Amino acid sequence: MIDPWASSSVDYDKLVNKFGIKKFSSVLKDIEDPLPLMTRGVIFGHRDFEKIIPLVNKNKEFAVVSGMMPSGKMHIGHKMVVDQLKWYLKKGGNLSLPIADMESYGARGIDFNQAKEMAVTEYLSNYIALGLDLTDENVLVYLQSEHDPVKNLAFELSKKTNFNELKAIYGFSPSTSISHLYAPIVQVADILLPQIEEYGGPKHVVVPVGVDQDPHIRLTRDISDRFKSKYGFIPPSSTYHRFLTGLTGGKMSSSDPKTAIYLNDSPNEAEKKVKSAKTGGRESLEEQKKLGGCPDQCVVYEMLVYHLIDDDDELKNVYENCKNGTLLCGECKTITAEKMKKFFERLADKREESLEIAKTLL
Ligand code: SF4
Repeated sequence: MIDPWASSSVDYDKLVNKFGIKKFSSVLKDIEDPLPLMTRGVIFGHRDFEKIIPLVNKNKEFAVVSGMMPSGKMHIGHKMVVDQLKWYLKKGGNLSLPIADMESYGARGIDFNQAKEMAVTEYLSNYIALGLDLTDENVLVYLQSEHDPVKNLAFELSKKTNFNELKAIYGFSPSTSISHLYAPIVQVADILLPQIEEYGGPKHVVVPVGVDQDPHIRLTRDISDRFKSKYGFIPPSSTYHRFLTGLTGGKMSSSDPKTAIYLNDSPNEAEKKVKSAKTGGRESLEEQKKLGGCPDQCVVYEMLVYHLIDDDDELKNVYENCKNGTLLCGECKTITAEKMKKFFERLADKREESLEIAKTLL
């Protein structure tokens, strides 16, 4: 069982085998201008992405759905979703960005006003500061609770979904509240919304998610089939990215400050947090010089891969110098922390203006 409301460590290979997610590496060669997140294996799996590739390559019509549930702080790991959305927008995709305030109310008990406030100050403003143009005519941002088309569609879809099915997917129990039960159906409606007539009718849709969101994708694909004769729905495609490891070595979590670098942290805090991160270094300097470090188990290296080094050759140098023991963790952390600080300085420069734009969106 993968639980989208819990955090856990993940064996990605097992998921690829067990849940029918296919390896992203098998379609990578067909993408004309892939993202580094794709070539570096951060995006590791997909369903039906081969149907999206020709559209991306030729700038033809497709939609991308990426929800955000206002429930806590955005951290550096969320940046990879924004990087993907920027890429899809450039490739001609129509972005649909639902703010899952009904889900945050149903699953977490967060009040609607609070969720809206959080969506603007924490999520939308950071999306903009990270370089996603939310005012683009091909971008739709909406709150679930204020968007009638999605609420109407969700209600209609719920007719062909029952408790036992949701229980089997999510592990719901008889004491689960109806609003929590209903939240996944609203999310299914979010994903299928770009295919209803009002939004141009049936089309290919891709949903880039962390693998913990796969239950929603499976449910959506099943339900889309049940309404195929009425709406002509095409089952949505999806891609799956790895989680950014937390500073302490587990999952990076919005609710645990020890594990995460938050996007609203100051540049100095971000720098300090990198210096506190778990590395793949050896017990002693002598040992590291002799045996080399373990970049594959290093949170600092992961930050370089996911976010801080664009150039593949530069990244390769870090990897090799770590492995052969010529680069030591102290120096490596200082370089990485400096890169992170600069990244956060650029983000801070854009914060005020981004917030003003975000306030106009809802
Ligand atoms: Fe990680 Fe850098 Fe240390 Fe290697 S040298 S283990 S990449 S911090």
